[in-house]
Amino acid sequence: MSSWLLPEAALAQGRWVKLICGASNQDLDAIEDLCGLYALAGVHCIDGAADGAVVAAIRRGVAWAVARGAARPWLMLSLSDGLDPHFRKAWFDPARCPSSCPRPCERVCPALAIGPPTPGGPGVVEDRCYGCGRCLPACPLGLIQERSQVLASGAVAPLLAELQPEAIELHTQPGRLQAFGERLDQLMASGIPLRRLAVSAGAEVGAQELWQRFALIRAKGLLPIWQLDGRPMSGDVGDGMAHAAVQLLAQLAPQAPPGPLQLAGGTNGKTIAHLEAQPQLARLASGVAFGGVARRQLQPWLLAAQQRGTSLLADGELWPQALVAVQQLVRPWLERT
Ligand code: SF4
Ligand code: SF4
Repeated sequence: MSSWLLPEAALAQGRWVKLICGASNQDLDAIEDLCGLYALAGVHCIDGAADGAVVAAIRRGVAWAVARGAARPWLMLSLSDGLDPHFRKAWFDPARCPSSCPRPCERVCPALAIGPPTPGGPGVVEDRCYGCGRCLPACPLGLIQERSQVLASGAVAPLLAELQPEAIELHTQPGRLQAFGERLDQLMASGIPLRRLAVSAGAEVGAQELWQRFALIRAKGLLPIWQLDGRPMSGDVGDGMAHAAVQLLAQLAPQAPPGPLQLAGGTNGKTIAHLEAQPQLARLASGVAFGGVARRQLQPWLLAAQQRGTSLLADGELWPQALVAVQQLVRPWLERT
C-alpha cells in the first residue's frame, strides 16, 4: 500500500478514514472480519469498545490485513462521560412475547441481534446489539427496554493500561463539562501516550462547550479531533442522512476550536458528494468515520460466510468480493485531492 498516508498526514490532508466498530458492539467474529477488510482497504483508525475481547478481535483482524500488505491503523477506544445512546443495549424478555407477534423488532434490527425465537433463547443477542435503538419503538407492546452501560470511573485507567490504544474517543453531551474533565483525569491516569483524543459531539453541544473542552484537553497536553456526530448511528438508514453530518460541519466549522474536524453520524457512501458540492466547506473536513454503513456494506458476505460455516476472512472466494465493496466506500476519501 505505497500510497497509504500516516494517520496524522491523512488528517492534515482531509483523507482520514476511521472505521467505527460500535461502542457497544461485541460480536467478535463480525468485528474481526470487519477490521480485517477495512484495514486492508486502508483505514487509518479503528474505533471499538473498551473491552478486552473486542480489542483482541480487532487486533486479529488487523494482523490478517497486515499479513496481506496493509499498514497498521490506530486503535481508538470509545468512552463516554455519562449516559449515551452509543453505550447501551436493547433487552426484552421473550417469554412475554405473544406467539402471534409478527416480530417487527426482528425486521428493523440492522445487526441481526434479534433472531428467530428459540425456546429459552435470548430475546436480544447482547454481543451483537450495538444500541442503535431502532427496535425500541418497533414493539407494539412496548416490551423492549434500553440498558445503559457506562464504565465505572475506577475501571478506566487500568483497562486502558491493559488495552494500550493509540487514541481515545470520548462521547459527550451538553452540560457535562465536569464529567468530561473527570474522564480526562481518569484516562491520563492510565499513563498511555495518546496520539489523539477524539471528542464525539452532536449539534446540541455547540461551539462554546467545545471550546471549554478544548481548554481541558490542551491543559493535559493532548491533541483533539472533533468528531461531528450529525445523526448518531444512522448512516445505514438512507442517503438523506448524509446531509446531517455535512450540515453540522457547516454550522460548527466557523466557530470550532483548533483541531481536525471529522464527519460522523449519518455518514455513508453519499457523504463525499454532498461535501464536495461545497468546495469551501470541503476544505475544512479532515476526514470521515463510517459506522453502521461500514457494517451494512459487508453484511451480504458475512451472511454468505456464515451459511458456509466459515469466517469471511478465511474464505478465499468471498473476502476478495467483500473487499471490493469496502473499497467503494473508503477509496473516494483516501484519494481526495
Ligand atoms: S435494533 Fe439496534 S438496539 Fe435493537 S437489538 Fe438491534 S442493534 Fe440492538
Ligand atoms: S415486537 Fe415486541 S412482542 Fe413482538 S417479538 Fe418483538 S419484542 Fe416481542
